[in-house]
Amino acid sequence: DPLINQIAAGEVVERPASVLKEVLENAVDAGAQAIEVALEAGGIKRIRVSDDGCGIDKADLALALERHATSKIASLDDLESVGTMGFRGEALAAISSVARTSLTSRADGASHAWRVDGPGQTPVPAALNRGTVVDVQELYYNTPARRKFLKTDNTEFAHCDDAFRRVALARPDIAMQLSHNGRVSQRLAAGDMTRRTGALLGDDFLAHARAIEADTGPVRLTGFASLPAYSRASRDAQYFFVNGRFVRDKLVTHAIREAYRDILHGSRHPAYVLFLDIDPHTVDVNVHPAKIEVRFRDSRAVHQFIYHALERSLGQSGA
Ligand code: ADP
Ligand code: MG
Repeated sequence: DPLINQIAAGEVVERPASVLKEVLENAVDAGAQAIEVALEAGGIKRIRVSDDGCGIDKADLALALERHATSKIASLDDLESVGTMGFRGEALAAISSVARTSLTSRADGASHAWRVDGPGQTPVPAALNRGTVVDVQELYYNTPARRKFLKTDNTEFAHCDDAFRRVALARPDIAMQLSHNGRVSQRLAAGDMTRRTGALLGDDFLAHARAIEADTGPVRLTGFASLPAYSRASRDAQYFFVNGRFVRDKLVTHAIREAYRDILHGSRHPAYVLFLDIDPHTVDVNVHPAKIEVRFRDSRAVHQFIYHALERSLGQSGA
């Protein structure tokens, strides 16, 4: 039902960056080792994402733009411990209801690729060596009321850039490229977390940051957090991932802020890239696709863990 999809799109597809987030997560789920993003006009005119992942076979290609075509959830238990990023099976349906969306893909082992030019369309043969190309054009072409809420190209691009960075930081093992209006703005070789963090936040950040490494067994915190000497820290350089998923969470932010206040006596805007790894059964990832919040079963323990991990690393002499 196109109307239901458009309504769902209102929740999932807030702006070009939300399209990019969903499409990037699909590429990651597909096991891509290289992902290329090409944007035009802040993503409003075009978002094109190419990956070298497992691809989609002809039968699934026709269904991929339909609602609830997901194969990623087999049971409620899966939903709880979901290892893949996407889990709702409606992102592409929602996107294709509010933008001209085509999907070209070559499944592993297939003799050639197929393309669909919209929901309900029959796949036609296409040329592609491997993986998938998702092409999303003219966002909100059919819902002008929504289009009015979009900001300038530059602002929308900045949001897309942030969505790109979140995935790029979480997955340094994937080579990633971002271009805007034909100009490459990020070219990231596959590497480790340190190298990727330096590429995205700057070597200046790394030079003024402490490596964080805390492990209690069930909970682990790794990454980098800035020292007070790093003055260029802004709100934008605050990245926190729970089990590989970017989150912006009150409890987490509070624990970090307290640690900076108590240990470093300041740094109102610390910069950090931190990865919390925790038993997925003890976290609820908000089922709302656009939300980036989590709920910890034992929030007190998580708060203390983060606080003490930062205290130990940042409090060492030389800070
Ligand atoms: P979900 O990711 O929640 O399953 P989506 O609407 O995002 O739902 O995608 C629908 C389906 O299309 C996915 O389950 C997957 O099978 C397939 N798919 C989408 N993008 C890709 C991709 N880049 N590579 C391989 N398969 C993909
Ligand atoms: Mg998805």
